[in-house]
Amino acid sequence: MNPPGAVAHRTAGGVRGGGGSRVVPVHHPDLTPGGAERVATIDLDAIEHNVRTIAALVAPARVMAVVKADAYGHGAVPVARAALRAGAAFLGAVHVSEALALRAAGIQAPILSWLHTSSTDFPAALAAGVELGVSGWELEPIAAAAKAAGTQARIHLKIDTGLGRNGCPADLWPALTEHAARLEAEGLVRVVGLFSHFSVADEPQRPETAQQLEAFEAALAIAEAAGLSPELRHIANTPGLLTRPDARYDMVRLGLGLYGLSPLEGVTSEELGLRPAMRLSCLVAAAKRVPAGQGVSYGLRWRSEEPTTLGLIPLGYADGIPRIAEDAPVLVGGRIVRSVGRVAMDQFVVDLGPDADPADVVATEAVLFGADGEPAVEDWAAAASTLNYEIVTRISPRVPRAYVGAHAEADASQTPGAGA
Ligand SMILES: *Cc1c(COP(=O)(O)O)cnc(C)c1O
Repeated sequence: MNPPGAVAHRTAGGVRGGGGSRVVPVHHPDLTPGGAERVATIDLDAIEHNVRTIAALVAPARVMAVVKADAYGHGAVPVARAALRAGAAFLGAVHVSEALALRAAGIQAPILSWLHTSSTDFPAALAAGVELGVSGWELEPIAAAAKAAGTQARIHLKIDTGLGRNGCPADLWPALTEHAARLEAEGLVRVVGLFSHFSVADEPQRPETAQQLEAFEAALAIAEAAGLSPELRHIANTPGLLTRPDARYDMVRLGLGLYGLSPLEGVTSEELGLRPAMRLSCLVAAAKRVPAGQGVSYGLRWRSEEPTTLGLIPLGYADGIPRIAEDAPVLVGGRIVRSVGRVAMDQFVVDLGPDADPADVVATEAVLFGADGEPAVEDWAAAASTLNYEIVTRISPRVPRAYVGAHAEADASQTPGAGA
């Protein structure tokens, strides 16, 4: 993928260093400004494609596009607009504050928020028509807010089927569902949904997912016995919806797959028919020849074994590049090269090899990850001993986002209502 405007084109004409002198800097690379210094390019057509692909897979179940954490670093408002256009029925935002930001951008679609504290602004959530996940204590303050506002809160009761985080423990579930049924009879709440969350759905060989589904079925029966008749039962995240067709119920909550990434070890995005939506690139900030034995970056954890050319990549842990990433791939001038030494706050170094001429490299584009022949997010996850989820989500606000795709301009507009 080479999105227009995000690629630094070099033209011929740089005066070469004649084999390279280390004494006098004689590189005269083409420094014509062009291309972004640092940019995360978000392909909103890929977001749409991923929603359509998953929607077709899970139909008649509906798709909730999970856009928490600024859409895993991709930008919540543009991604939400693209996902809704492609057929997502719901948006998922963990915090009420995230849901309110979507409403402020003019987005009218149903939104569910499910992680609350005693400081959560339930009145604002109700005023904005945000649906609320309820695991226990939240029921009372939400009902009180509904009463005060003269409205009815739309809630989804959450059962803990084994993850051990949010969600009502099984022994308290009968009381919670009965309490909710009473409040529903009073008109203060409407129990729209019943839901839960998987713990190991990305490891299909493990038995716990089937056990969670059994526990979910039992919880649904108890809720029915309490008199609840929710229209949305949902439990599946991306790995769950892919590996357990029997877990799709009325809706799936699509996070990672929305961004075109695979949650399954050894299964690529391409094999799932998904398109990675984020491409992280920058311009090489500097390049130089160094002798054998040159140490690189804090701690001097790497030294050159032979004379080589090093390139400086102007992205560091302040930009969300994991400090512990080692030997990670970067595409420079059509070649995959490797990071060497510590990632610092603002920069890291790649070894371009003994044959690279600094003048050929400085000011060219470097791609950390993308799609189609570029390094993958998963390569960076492996280099940093983490998951693809964390790599994209932690790309920080210091990296500008650029949006490409047929509707990119409207989707990325700051104007409330644009593209919504
Ligand atoms: C983040 C989250 C999801 C999305 O999970 P993915 O694995 O990214 O699809 C779904 N449900 C809940 C409750 C979540 O917190």
